Amino acid sequence: MIALELSAVIGRHGLLQAIKGLTLQIARNEVVALIGANGAGKTTLLRMIAGLHPLADGEIRLFGAPIGQMPAHARVKAGIALSPEGRRLFGELTVRENLQIACENGRRGDWTLDRVCAALPQIAPLLRRTAGGLSGGQRQRVLIARALACEPDLLLLDEPTASLDPTVQEDVHALLRDLNQRLGIIMVSHDLGFVSLYFKTVICVNRDIHVHATGDLTQERVARMYGREVRLLLHAEKAGGDR
Ligand code: ATP
Repeated sequence: MIALELSAVIGRHGLLQAIKGLTLQIARNEVVALIGANGAGKTTLLRMIAGLHPLADGEIRLFGAPIGQMPAHARVKAGIALSPEGRRLFGELTVRENLQIACENGRRGDWTLDRVCAALPQIAPLLRRTAGGLSGGQRQRVLIARALACEPDLLLLDEPTASLDPTVQEDVHALLRDLNQRLGIIMVSHDLGFVSLYFKTVICVNRDIHVHATGDLTQERVARMYGREVRLLLHAEKAGGDR
């Protein structure tokens, strides 16, 4: 079953066309890495899917329903949660309060505060802490917990391990592997080693081409896509725009 479908999606920043007609489909519970050079448009794309950046043209569908003009808060209710780059939390509030806000504004379902804490054991000891005083790794875990508390079908993660120590990065990666199979994930990453080891589907966003690859990905193969040397569609199983 197709969860997310992008058809000829265009995203702009003023006169700059950051996303130039991207077409792709993501299956239910599919886990996808989004890679590409700095400034290629990865963050813009996630924000467009979440409804935080306007869709200039094209269409976005979630389980077949058009959502391209839907406001961000309605997309959260429809099943999309974004964990943004930069570890943004309400710094003055406690971790519990940050998570409660997400529970109240997301969908009603299985991911109660208790279940989120059970799934992410590192969260419970932090519940009373003020979010502003957490370390980078702690904030990242709380961000993922907050996104889960919205009860998403599709979790969008923008560079969840950027600027974390390698051991903390591994914790976050382990957490993401645990979530695998339970919901769809689109994750922006510059960590090609991790991407090539754990992701079967990789979408490379470049300024003038979007490459969609599935199957066994070696690090070298991913690096070639990333380096913009590969200009062909490696695997066109379910669309993947070659633009
Ligand atoms: P990075 O890997 O560095 O985070 P990215 O792939 O996420 O990059 P975006 O942040 O989506 O890329 O940016 C895509 C393009 O849009 C870049 O050329 C960037 O300079 C431009 N851009 C992003 N945000 C804005 C903005 N607020 N105003 C104008 N241009 C912007």
